[in-house]
Amino acid sequence: MLAAYATGADADDPLSKLEIGDLEVPAPPRGFVRLAVSAVSLNHHDLWTLRGVGAPPSRYPRVLGCDVVGTVDAFGPDTAEPEALGTEVVAHAVITCGHCDACLGPDETLCRHFAMLTEGPYDGSLAQYCLVPARNIMPVPKGITAVEAACLPTAYLTAYRMLFSKARLRPGATVLIQGAGGGLSTAAESLALATGLRVFVSSRSEQKRQAAAARGVHHVIAAGREAASEVLSLTGGEGVDAVIESVGEPTWATSLRVLRRGGAIVVAGATAGADPPADLRRVFWRQLQVLGSTMGTRSEFRALLATVEASGLHPLIDSVFPLAQAGAAFAKLESGLATGKLVITVA
Ligand SMILES: [Zn+2]
Repeated sequence: MLAAYATGADADDPLSKLEIGDLEVPAPPRGFVRLAVSAVSLNHHDLWTLRGVGAPPSRYPRVLGCDVVGTVDAFGPDTAEPEALGTEVVAHAVITCGHCDACLGPDETLCRHFAMLTEGPYDGSLAQYCLVPARNIMPVPKGITAVEAACLPTAYLTAYRMLFSKARLRPGATVLIQGAGGGLSTAAESLALATGLRVFVSSRSEQKRQAAAARGVHHVIAAGREAASEVLSLTGGEGVDAVIESVGEPTWATSLRVLRRGGAIVVAGATAGADPPADLRRVFWRQLQVLGSTMGTRSEFRALLATVEASGLHPLIDSVFPLAQAGAAFAKLESGLATGKLVITVA
């Protein structure tokens, strides 16, 4: 089968470790289902794998891709079959042990054996066939295409948990999303707009700010010195209820300054630096909450799919590439110039 995979890791030239070639079709073990893949969206996680950042693969070649939509093709032996053969499904991208205290409790993402597709022993989805735990598959929401549904498992799930589980935002609440245009920030923006939040988005790029305004973002802010005072003046001096933070060092000081008393910064990334000044006086005096967030649970994924179906949300897609041209898609991801998700279709 055709697959896009990492042959190793290179921190400086990650794309040199990306190869597209033939691999054997995998056989599903017990508890797993094989999907005939139709669409996969790319995430920065795939670039980290090529750079050697985070949980290392147990072997190479390692098929890339965390997000997948496909049709049910085969089940492993003695495996419960939640969907019929031929059903089009989207897969929850988090794999956990299923039997520790965290897995049996309300938050499986705290499992010590937490892994994404592509981590540890698990190959990813950028291939004609892939394996996922059978309990991770769910029907594609009505009203969206396979290409759109392939955007949901990582970026949209991460954004859903940040907005609704971590910051506990309700319709009418105010949220600042730091950085416009990326996969996670456009996911947060789409979900926030679709659920009745008042949305502020910041960016250094005039072009990205104009595009965000055209998508219906309520307040578009120029990132930099004046950003905090602008947000404060737009909220009558009060500040926003929450900040969605994935940029890091360049935006952290602003994120702390624009929060209302008791508000929450939810952090799910630090793409531009992970060690900003903490400004602890502001944190305790204004009783700010700093909340880390990674991916989401199966039940949050189910709730996300229901939200997409009920709201009529369509994930924002930058461009779609065939699997044979995955290299061009990765180059666009690395450039940071994409607005929305990059999706790869598999024939
Ligand atoms: Zn567990």
